[in-house]
Amino acid sequence: MHITHTIPDCRSARASLGRVAFVPTMGALHEGHLTLMRHAKSLADHVAVSIFVNPTQFGPKEDFNKYPRPIEADLARCESAGVDLVFNPTPAEMYGQQPMPVVIDLPQLTDPLEGRHRPGHFRGVCQVVAKLFNIVQPNAAIFGLKDYQQFCVLRGMVEQLNFPIEMVGHPTVREPDGLAMSSRNQYLSTDERRRALSISRALFTARDQFTEGIRQTQRLLATIQNILLPPAAATALGNSSELGRIPVSIDYVASVDARTLQPVERIEKPTLLAIAARVGATRLIDNIVITP
Ligand code: AMP
Repeated sequence: MHITHTIPDCRSARASLGRVAFVPTMGALHEGHLTLMRHAKSLADHVAVSIFVNPTQFGPKEDFNKYPRPIEADLARCESAGVDLVFNPTPAEMYGQQPMPVVIDLPQLTDPLEGRHRPGHFRGVCQVVAKLFNIVQPNAAIFGLKDYQQFCVLRGMVEQLNFPIEMVGHPTVREPDGLAMSSRNQYLSTDERRRALSISRALFTARDQFTEGIRQTQRLLATIQNILLPPAAATALGNSSELGRIPVSIDYVASVDARTLQPVERIEKPTLLAIAARVGATRLIDNIVITP
């Protein structure tokens, strides 16, 4: 496995490889990332992975400094997943000593959902992924649908800017109990983790209601909200008083067209149900697509 830290080293290692499938990550690798890497192996002769906590996609009050960076464990995981090339640059290597702002934006896709709550986030994502694409020059790139909007934005960028890269979205990888895997799950205490399970449970319950015939998204969204934030009376009666003390706040619960990300009131086409919520201090996102 080639381990590279500079752009020239990455380029020259890449030049020795044939078709490359690329998995960009911020490290703190878990089974979700590894599943993407294994899938990448089925798409091309070689697999490249970047490990880079990208400062330009974090807001000033977000967790850039405390984001986990277990680089030795990450490299071992890449090796065990059969990765051929790792690119692990520093921010200075990526942006130089005096970074100049670069703006790639697709407002139709970046404004809703995460865009409303994390201003500038997708500009940072587009900037870094465009740079990584130019450095690694992959034939295919694999992204997780856990970050569904990110995949839509990057697919839009690739289409609109004519990157010759096949974009592949991979289904969300979950823990056995349903929690979507995330590097941020390690911030959760045991009780917070149990409370966080209500996010996937809410989505699965809404999907069950849809299967039973409910098409009005207002009803599905109400179900989700009630599971995330049970009415006070219900919590008082239940045996979840310990968990009830863990603060949960909803950034959004939304139903949008799975392609355009515009709001949907009645489900007639594939529809994304998406949640962003804070459990304690940890912000988590999850989603499912339901298809009539
Ligand atoms: P990150 O390191 O969080 O930037 O994620 C790197 C890539 O892994 C992105 O394409 C994510 O969507 C993907 N990813 C993260 N968690 C999961 C998961 N639980 N299932 C599938 N893909 C994931």
